[in-house]
Amino acid sequence: MFDNLKLDNNVVLITGANRGIGLSIAKLLKLRGAKVIATARKKEDSQMLEAMGFISHYLDVTEVDSIIKLKKTLKLDSLMPDILVSNAGLGTVSLSMRLKRNLWDQTIETNLTAAFELAKAFIPHMSKKGFGRIINISSVLARSPQVGLAHYSASKSGLEGFTKSLALEYAQKGITANCIAPGFIETDMIADLRKQGMDFKNKIPVERVGVPDDVAEITAFLSSKASSYITGETIHINGGTYFS
Ligand code: NDP
Repeated sequence: MFDNLKLDNNVVLITGANRGIGLSIAKLLKLRGAKVIATARKKEDSQMLEAMGFISHYLDVTEVDSIIKLKKTLKLDSLMPDILVSNAGLGTVSLSMRLKRNLWDQTIETNLTAAFELAKAFIPHMSKKGFGRIINISSVLARSPQVGLAHYSASKSGLEGFTKSLALEYAQKGITANCIAPGFIETDMIADLRKQGMDFKNKIPVERVGVPDDVAEITAFLSSKASSYITGETIHINGGTYFS
């Protein structure tokens, strides 16, 4: 029965897999047996990922043409994913009334629209297979906002609403759709926010900032057959900073 946690027969696509949470997810899912397609925006990052044993392709998630091109390539290679982890994300600080329209658009395109385009590209294959996993990386800020991150919160709240709708639309096809909402996780994104004056540690009840592996473990579970009765859910992982 516990074989349900294995990912030996799965192909997973993870966006923004070259660093931070995405890289940790890629490593753990590979360890659990999945074929991992790890996407990145820079050639040197793709080369690094290939040297680590991943299949790597270029993908800027805001370029719809690149998503379509990637889909064609994966189809030709018989590597269509049945697990999709939309992880690539953008977080910047600006008070709402000072926020430039282009930063609003860029945040929505990266954190929300990309998840829609990727789901559109890969759900038909999952439907045919009768098995699929959509895992969208949201944020605690979707439900518990902070000053200066309205655009980010809006994008992640939208992502959670979108994911619930997918869960309903594809429940009968063996596809689950869930979000993971991390709190403060030690990556470059947090380092950037720290530089912009945010302080985290003394806001966290468990008295530590999370690590990418905390998020990878729950992603591996949601990817597996063992999670087949969980759909439309957001799993919070935040050391007690927020209870849903
Ligand atoms: P990082 O800043 O460390 O990494 C962001 C990743 O997203 C990088 O791989 C980056 O690529 C990629 N990326 C950004 N924009 C694009 C794009 N247009 N196309 C392709 N890739 C892109 O962030 P984290 O690892 O911390 O974040 C991963 C996810 O987790 C994000 O969705 C984030 O919102 C979410 N999250 C993180 C939290 C945290 O505390 N760290 C808390 C809550 C949620 P490149 O290297 O080329 O820039």
